[in-house]
Amino acid sequence: MANDVLKVGSLSAAPGEKRYGINEFSVQGQPYRLPMWLVNGSTPGPTLAVTAGVHAAEYASIAAALDLGQRLDPKTLRGRAIVVPVMNMPAFGARSIYVCPLDGKNPNRVFPGNAQGTASEQIADWMFKNVISQAGFYCDLHGGDLIEALVPFTIFFGSGNDKVDSAALEMAKVFGIHYLVRSTTPPGSTIFAAATAGIPAILTEAGGQGIWTKEDVDAHVDGLDRLLRHLGMTAGPPPAAKPFTLLEQFLWLRSQHEGFWYPAVPVNAAVKKGQDLGSVKDWEGRVLQTASSPADGRVLFIVTSLAINNNDPLLAVGA
Ligand SMILES: [Zn+2]
Repeated sequence: MANDVLKVGSLSAAPGEKRYGINEFSVQGQPYRLPMWLVNGSTPGPTLAVTAGVHAAEYASIAAALDLGQRLDPKTLRGRAIVVPVMNMPAFGARSIYVCPLDGKNPNRVFPGNAQGTASEQIADWMFKNVISQAGFYCDLHGGDLIEALVPFTIFFGSGNDKVDSAALEMAKVFGIHYLVRSTTPPGSTIFAAATAGIPAILTEAGGQGIWTKEDVDAHVDGLDRLLRHLGMTAGPPPAAKPFTLLEQFLWLRSQHEGFWYPAVPVNAAVKKGQDLGSVKDWEGRVLQTASSPADGRVLFIVTSLAINNNDPLLAVGA
Protein backbone atom coordinates (compact mmCIF):
# COMPACT_ATOMS: atom_id res chain seq x y z
CA MET A 1 0.00 0.00 0.00
CA ALA A 2 1.25 3.49 -0.79
CA ASN A 3 0.12 7.05 -0.35
CA ASP A 4 -1.88 8.66 -3.12
CA VAL A 5 -0.13 11.23 -5.25
CA LEU A 6 -0.08 14.52 -3.33
CA LYS A 7 -1.51 17.24 -5.53
CA VAL A 8 -1.82 20.91 -4.62
CA GLY A 9 -2.85 23.23 -7.45
CA SER A 10 -0.44 22.66 -10.34
CA LEU A 11 2.19 20.88 -8.19
CA SER A 12 2.31 17.19 -7.33
CA ALA A 13 4.55 14.73 -5.51
CA ALA A 14 4.43 10.95 -6.01
CA PRO A 15 4.83 8.62 -3.00
CA GLY A 16 8.43 8.85 -1.77
CA GLU A 17 8.92 12.22 -3.48
CA LYS A 18 9.52 15.74 -2.17
CA ARG A 19 8.77 18.76 -4.25
CA TYR A 20 9.47 22.46 -3.74
CA GLY A 21 7.59 24.64 -6.16
CA ILE A 22 5.57 27.77 -6.73
CA ASN A 23 1.84 27.55 -7.28
CA GLU A 24 0.56 30.36 -9.45
CA PHE A 25 -3.11 31.31 -9.46
CA SER A 26 -5.15 34.39 -10.19
CA VAL A 27 -6.01 36.95 -7.49
CA GLN A 28 -8.03 39.92 -8.68
CA GLY A 29 -6.95 39.04 -12.21
CA GLN A 30 -3.24 39.22 -11.32
CA PRO A 31 -0.88 36.24 -10.93
CA TYR A 32 -0.29 35.30 -7.28
CA ARG A 33 2.84 33.20 -6.73
CA LEU A 34 2.88 31.00 -3.64
CA PRO A 35 5.98 28.92 -2.76
CA MET A 36 5.41 25.63 -0.96
CA TRP A 37 6.75 22.20 -0.13
CA LEU A 38 4.94 18.97 -0.91
CA VAL A 39 6.41 15.99 0.93
CA ASN A 40 4.86 12.63 0.14
CA GLY A 41 6.12 9.88 2.43
CA SER A 42 7.07 6.40 1.28
CA THR A 43 4.52 4.84 3.62
CA PRO A 44 0.86 5.75 4.16
CA GLY A 45 -0.25 7.91 7.05
CA PRO A 46 -2.00 11.16 7.90
CA THR A 47 -1.86 14.36 5.86
CA LEU A 48 -0.59 17.39 7.81
CA ALA A 49 -0.82 20.96 6.51
CA VAL A 50 1.52 23.55 8.03
CA THR A 51 1.21 27.23 7.17
CA ALA A 52 2.96 30.40 8.34
CA GLY A 53 3.19 33.98 7.20
CA VAL A 54 -0.56 34.63 7.25
CA HIS A 55 0.89 37.61 9.10
CA ALA A 56 4.07 38.02 7.15
CA ALA A 57 6.26 39.79 9.73
CA GLU A 58 5.87 37.01 12.32
CA TYR A 59 9.35 35.80 11.50
CA ALA A 60 9.99 33.08 14.11
CA SER A 61 7.05 31.10 12.73
CA ILE A 62 8.10 31.65 9.11
CA ALA A 63 11.69 30.57 9.89
CA ALA A 64 10.34 27.39 11.51
CA ALA A 65 8.09 26.56 8.52
CA LEU A 66 11.01 27.10 6.11
CA ASP A 67 13.13 24.80 8.26
CA LEU A 68 10.42 22.13 8.27
CA GLY A 69 9.94 22.21 4.50
CA GLN A 70 13.69 22.06 3.90
CA ARG A 71 14.41 19.14 6.20
CA LEU A 72 11.38 16.81 5.95
CA ASP A 73 12.52 13.58 4.31
CA PRO A 74 10.00 11.60 2.25
CA LYS A 75 12.02 8.40 2.83
CA THR A 76 11.32 8.52 6.57
CA LEU A 77 7.97 10.33 6.56
CA ARG A 78 4.79 8.34 7.18
CA GLY A 79 1.96 10.15 5.46
CA ARG A 80 2.07 13.45 3.64
CA ALA A 81 2.94 17.05 4.50
CA ILE A 82 2.14 20.35 2.79
CA VAL A 83 4.20 23.29 4.05
CA VAL A 84 3.42 26.89 3.02
CA PRO A 85 5.94 29.14 4.81
CA VAL A 86 4.56 32.54 3.70
CA MET A 87 0.87 32.53 2.80
CA ASN A 88 0.62 36.34 2.64
CA MET A 89 3.38 36.96 0.08
CA PRO A 90 2.55 40.62 -0.73
CA ALA A 91 2.90 41.49 2.98
CA PHE A 92 6.24 39.68 3.28
CA GLY A 93 7.99 41.87 0.72
CA ALA A 94 6.28 44.99 2.03
CA ARG A 95 7.06 44.09 5.70
CA SER A 96 3.45 44.95 6.35
CA ILE A 97 1.73 44.21 9.66
CA TYR A 98 -1.68 42.62 10.29
CA VAL A 99 -3.05 42.83 6.74
CA CYS A 100 -2.55 41.92 3.10
CA PRO A 101 -1.53 45.13 1.29
CA LEU A 102 -3.64 44.17 -1.76
CA ASP A 103 -6.89 44.93 0.09
CA GLY A 104 -5.97 46.07 3.62
CA LYS A 105 -7.73 43.06 5.15
CA ASN A 106 -6.46 40.74 7.88
CA PRO A 107 -6.27 37.35 6.12
CA ASN A 108 -6.92 35.62 9.44
CA ARG A 109 -10.44 37.07 9.51
CA VAL A 110 -11.64 36.00 6.05
CA PHE A 111 -11.33 32.17 6.04
CA PRO A 112 -12.59 30.00 4.40
CA GLY A 113 -12.50 32.82 1.85
CA ASN A 114 -14.54 33.70 -1.20
CA ALA A 115 -13.56 33.04 -4.84
CA GLN A 116 -15.44 36.18 -5.90
CA GLY A 117 -14.21 38.35 -3.02
CA THR A 118 -11.35 40.75 -2.38
CA ALA A 119 -7.68 39.72 -2.70
CA SER A 120 -7.38 38.28 0.84
CA GLU A 121 -10.66 36.41 0.40
CA GLN A 122 -9.52 34.90 -2.90
CA ILE A 123 -6.16 33.84 -1.40
CA ALA A 124 -7.99 32.29 1.58
CA ASP A 125 -10.39 30.51 -0.77
CA TRP A 126 -7.50 29.01 -2.77
CA MET A 127 -5.65 27.99 0.41
CA PHE A 128 -8.72 26.47 1.98
CA LYS A 129 -9.75 24.47 -1.09
CA ASN A 130 -6.27 23.33 -2.16
CA VAL A 131 -4.31 22.95 1.08
CA ILE A 132 -6.33 22.97 4.30
CA SER A 133 -9.32 20.92 3.16
CA GLN A 134 -7.20 17.97 2.06
CA ALA A 135 -5.39 17.81 5.43
CA GLY A 136 -6.33 15.46 8.24
CA PHE A 137 -4.57 17.81 10.68
CA TYR A 138 -3.62 21.46 10.39
CA CYS A 139 -1.10 23.69 12.17
CA ASP A 140 -0.94 27.46 11.50
CA LEU A 141 2.21 29.11 12.88
CA HIS A 142 2.06 32.70 14.14
CA GLY A 143 3.76 35.03 16.64
CA GLY A 144 3.65 38.61 17.74
CA ASP A 145 3.61 40.96 14.77
CA LEU A 146 6.25 43.72 14.27
CA ILE A 147 4.61 45.78 17.03
CA GLU A 148 3.61 42.98 19.41
CA ALA A 149 5.42 41.29 22.28
CA LEU A 150 4.04 37.99 23.50
CA VAL A 151 4.56 35.01 25.74
CA PRO A 152 4.26 31.85 23.61
CA PHE A 153 0.80 30.27 23.54
CA THR A 154 -1.20 27.84 21.42
CA ILE A 155 -4.81 28.48 20.39
CA PHE A 156 -7.29 25.81 19.47
CA PHE A 157 -10.85 26.44 18.47
CA GLY A 158 -13.79 25.17 20.48
CA SER A 159 -16.06 24.22 17.56
CA GLY A 160 -18.57 22.20 19.54
CA ASN A 161 -17.63 19.03 17.64
CA ASP A 162 -16.21 16.94 20.50
CA LYS A 163 -14.14 14.63 18.31
CA VAL A 164 -12.47 17.52 16.46
CA ASP A 165 -12.03 19.64 19.59
CA SER A 166 -10.47 16.87 21.67
CA ALA A 167 -8.06 15.98 18.83
CA ALA A 168 -7.10 19.68 18.59
CA LEU A 169 -6.58 19.89 22.37
CA GLU A 170 -4.30 16.83 22.16
CA MET A 171 -2.32 18.51 19.35
CA ALA A 172 -2.03 21.70 21.42
CA LYS A 173 -0.81 19.74 24.46
CA VAL A 174 1.83 17.77 22.56
CA PHE A 175 3.14 20.89 20.79
CA GLY A 176 4.66 21.72 24.17
CA ILE A 177 4.01 25.48 24.54
CA HIS A 178 2.94 26.16 28.12
CA TYR A 179 -0.18 28.33 27.67
CA LEU A 180 -3.13 26.80 25.80
CA VAL A 181 -6.05 29.02 24.83
CA ARG A 182 -9.46 27.64 23.92
CA SER A 183 -10.93 30.24 21.58
CA THR A 184 -14.45 30.56 20.27
CA THR A 185 -13.65 33.74 18.35
CA PRO A 186 -12.96 35.24 15.92
CA PRO A 187 -14.78 33.68 13.01
CA GLY A 188 -12.72 33.82 9.86
CA SER A 189 -9.49 32.55 11.35
CA THR A 190 -7.65 29.71 9.64
CA ILE A 191 -8.26 27.26 12.50
CA PHE A 192 -11.91 28.32 12.86
CA ALA A 193 -12.50 27.39 9.21
CA ALA A 194 -10.58 24.12 9.58
CA ALA A 195 -12.36 23.08 12.79
CA THR A 196 -15.74 23.95 11.28
CA ALA A 197 -14.85 21.64 8.37
CA GLY A 198 -13.99 18.84 10.83
CA ILE A 199 -10.20 19.20 10.65
CA PRO A 200 -8.41 19.34 14.05
CA ALA A 201 -6.24 22.46 14.00
CA ILE A 202 -4.01 24.56 16.22
CA LEU A 203 -2.58 28.06 15.91
CA THR A 204 0.77 28.52 17.64
CA GLU A 205 2.23 31.85 18.74
CA ALA A 206 5.93 32.47 19.53
CA GLY A 207 8.27 35.37 18.81
CA GLY A 208 7.41 38.97 18.05
CA GLN A 209 8.53 42.54 17.39
CA GLY A 210 10.27 41.48 14.17
CA ILE A 211 12.83 39.46 16.14
CA TRP A 212 13.29 35.76 15.54
CA THR A 213 15.46 34.40 18.33
CA LYS A 214 16.62 30.79 18.30
CA GLU A 215 14.46 30.20 21.36
CA ASP A 216 11.29 31.37 19.60
CA VAL A 217 12.06 29.57 16.34
CA ASP A 218 12.78 26.42 18.37
CA ALA A 219 9.42 26.71 20.15
CA HIS A 220 7.79 26.14 16.75
CA VAL A 221 10.41 23.69 15.43
CA ASP A 222 10.33 21.48 18.54
CA GLY A 223 6.54 21.67 18.60
CA LEU A 224 6.30 20.53 14.98
CA ASP A 225 8.69 17.65 15.68
CA ARG A 226 6.61 16.62 18.67
CA LEU A 227 3.41 16.91 16.62
CA LEU A 228 4.84 14.73 13.81
CA ARG A 229 5.75 12.03 16.34
CA HIS A 230 2.34 12.33 18.03
CA LEU A 231 0.65 11.76 14.66
CA GLY A 232 2.95 8.79 13.97
CA MET A 233 4.40 10.56 10.93
CA THR A 234 8.01 10.35 12.08
CA ALA A 235 9.82 7.66 14.08
CA GLY A 236 10.43 7.92 17.79
CA PRO A 237 8.50 7.59 21.00
CA PRO A 238 5.37 9.73 21.47
CA PRO A 239 6.36 13.08 22.98
CA ALA A 240 6.45 13.20 26.76
CA ALA A 241 3.75 15.35 28.34
CA LYS A 242 4.80 18.86 29.40
CA PRO A 243 3.03 20.89 32.07
CA PHE A 244 0.50 23.33 30.62
CA THR A 245 -2.04 25.93 31.70
CA LEU A 246 -5.38 25.89 29.90
CA LEU A 247 -7.01 29.33 29.51
CA GLU A 248 -10.68 29.30 28.59
CA GLN A 249 -11.00 32.98 27.66
CA PHE A 250 -8.96 35.12 25.27
CA LEU A 251 -9.92 38.71 26.14
CA TRP A 252 -8.75 41.46 23.77
CA LEU A 253 -8.68 45.13 24.78
CA ARG A 254 -8.81 47.71 22.00
CA SER A 255 -8.11 51.40 21.79
CA GLN A 256 -11.13 53.65 21.47
CA HIS A 257 -8.98 56.60 20.40
CA GLU A 258 -6.15 57.67 18.16
CA GLY A 259 -3.22 58.59 20.37
CA PHE A 260 -0.27 57.23 22.32
CA TRP A 261 -0.25 53.87 24.13
CA TYR A 262 1.51 53.50 27.50
CA PRO A 263 1.35 49.90 28.78
CA ALA A 264 1.57 49.60 32.58
CA VAL A 265 2.45 45.89 32.76
CA PRO A 266 4.92 43.63 30.94
CA VAL A 267 3.90 40.70 28.79
CA ASN A 268 3.32 37.49 30.80
CA ALA A 269 2.28 39.52 33.88
CA ALA A 270 -0.25 37.87 36.17
CA VAL A 271 -3.04 40.44 36.52
CA LYS A 272 -6.19 40.89 38.61
CA LYS A 273 -9.63 41.90 37.41
CA GLY A 274 -9.87 45.71 37.33
CA GLN A 275 -6.09 46.20 37.42
CA ASP A 276 -4.71 49.14 35.41
CA LEU A 277 -2.96 47.64 32.38
CA GLY A 278 -2.07 50.89 30.66
CA SER A 279 -3.50 54.03 29.16
CA VAL A 280 -4.05 55.77 25.87
CA LYS A 281 -3.06 59.45 26.07
CA ASP A 282 -3.35 62.49 23.83
CA TRP A 283 -0.62 64.94 22.72
CA GLU A 284 -0.83 66.84 26.00
CA GLY A 285 -0.59 63.72 28.13
CA ARG A 286 -4.26 63.61 29.10
CA VAL A 287 -5.59 60.10 29.65
CA LEU A 288 -8.17 59.28 26.98
CA GLN A 289 -8.70 55.68 28.05
CA THR A 290 -7.56 53.40 30.83
CA ALA A 291 -7.22 49.73 29.96
CA SER A 292 -8.33 47.72 32.98
CA SER A 293 -8.10 43.97 33.15
CA PRO A 294 -11.42 42.28 32.36
CA ALA A 295 -10.50 39.24 34.49
CA ASP A 296 -7.89 37.61 36.70
CA GLY A 297 -5.43 36.17 34.21
CA ARG A 298 -2.19 36.41 32.27
CA VAL A 299 -1.13 39.09 29.77
CA LEU A 300 -0.53 37.05 26.60
CA PHE A 301 0.40 39.83 24.21
CA ILE A 302 1.00 43.58 24.32
CA VAL A 303 1.16 46.04 21.46
CA THR A 304 4.54 47.76 21.83
CA SER A 305 3.89 50.60 19.42
CA LEU A 306 3.59 54.07 20.96
CA ALA A 307 1.39 55.08 18.02
CA ILE A 308 -2.11 53.71 18.39
CA ASN A 309 -5.16 54.03 16.14
CA ASN A 310 -8.81 53.86 17.01
CA ASN A 311 -9.87 50.18 17.31
CA ASP A 312 -6.26 48.87 17.33
CA PRO A 313 -5.60 46.00 19.77
CA LEU A 314 -3.77 47.11 22.94
CA LEU A 315 -3.21 43.76 24.61
CA ALA A 316 -4.94 40.50 25.45
CA VAL A 317 -5.52 38.71 28.73
CA GLY A 318 -5.88 34.94 28.86
CA ALA A 319 -8.12 33.80 31.73
ZN1 LIG B 1 -0.45 36.23 13.40
